[in-house]
Amino acid sequence: MSSSNRTVPFFNYPSLFVEEEAKMVEIFTDVCRRGAFIQQRDLEEFEQRLGEYVGAKHVLGIANATDALHLALRAVGIEAGDEVIFCSHTMVATAASIHYAGGVPVPCECGPDHLMDPASAEAAVTSRTKAIMPTQLNGRTADMDAIQAIADKHGLMILEDSAQALGSKFKAQCAGTFGKAGCISFYPAKTLGCFGDGGCVFTNDDEVYHNLCLLRDHGRDAEGEVRLWGLNSRLDNLQAAILNHKFKSYDQAIARRREIASQYQERLGAISTLVLPPAPDSDDRHFDIFQNYELEAEHRDQLRSHLTDRGIGTLIQWGGKAVHQFKDLGLTQSLPYTDQLFKRLLMLPLNTTLTAEDVDYICDCIEQFYDSKTTQHAA
Ligand SMILES: *Cc1c(COP(=O)(O)O)cnc(C)c1O
Repeated sequence: MSSSNRTVPFFNYPSLFVEEEAKMVEIFTDVCRRGAFIQQRDLEEFEQRLGEYVGAKHVLGIANATDALHLALRAVGIEAGDEVIFCSHTMVATAASIHYAGGVPVPCECGPDHLMDPASAEAAVTSRTKAIMPTQLNGRTADMDAIQAIADKHGLMILEDSAQALGSKFKAQCAGTFGKAGCISFYPAKTLGCFGDGGCVFTNDDEVYHNLCLLRDHGRDAEGEVRLWGLNSRLDNLQAAILNHKFKSYDQAIARRREIASQYQERLGAISTLVLPPAPDSDDRHFDIFQNYELEAEHRDQLRSHLTDRGIGTLIQWGGKAVHQFKDLGLTQSLPYTDQLFKRLLMLPLNTTLTAEDVDYICDCIEQFYDSKTTQHAA
């Protein structure tokens, strides 16, 4: 058992480059020799390719997903005092984007699948609510029928934080394409990662697209006339060129992620002290891409150090707090389900550099941990 020298990092950052080093250098050289740094053809090609892939009319590369959300909220017309409901089990970026668009972030509970709980979202609706912004967390898309029903009933816009969900689907429709706009992140550890920060927005709305084109580029239109107060938040052409290449093998990467999730399911499914994410083929309305493998574990902290001692990297998402739990942000909502859940959440490694042996080793160590617990109790 602990005689193994195997180590499994949570995420292998150098692999993004070294797995295809020669190709990456070639792309760098090509783009730089062309002097094609800002808003060039690599970006246009990437935007077009992504749009075809997810079935979105418009795609705009943005500097990162946080900006993408912020600009999308502005582009759809969120104004000072407008309330936007989001699920508290998300990155603080979701709420910060609402804040910086001038809106009021209103957190709600997540459900047993760790995604926005529709009942809690609906209970948070007031006369000032303008939009509902589910996070398509861990690479799974929420039940968008339920969220659409709330939006329809109360006249709300839907925006999606689909930063973790490129290619994830609910009833064959891709995350990020359900509402007025959705965002994707190309942060290195995301399922499609670039060499730094990157993101994009999807929208099917021509006016939102037009606003976003202005907002990301100093408010300037094609003639250079400044039409509104904009920002500089463009996706670098060099990053787009790298993403363009990595995207060619994206479907294989997702298939491999789903395979790893199946292996975890097979090996850990019988352990009663764990609650695993839904298995890849457990519900045919959902196509999950497994950005993360986030489970609920009894004795979570002890399990985590047991794994650390055996060379296995794990992560507790968001540093262990839901957004409403960061006291200095001043959110006062009480979300007891999420509070309880956050004592039990843990993410196991899930990325395309893992081998079947790595996954087996992780599962062996987890089994061993709970076996020794049972023995202790019996004694
Ligand atoms: C990564 C992430 C973001 C932020 O993405 P950046 O590109 O780093 O700005 C926002 N929301 C969620 C759910 C994320 O996972």
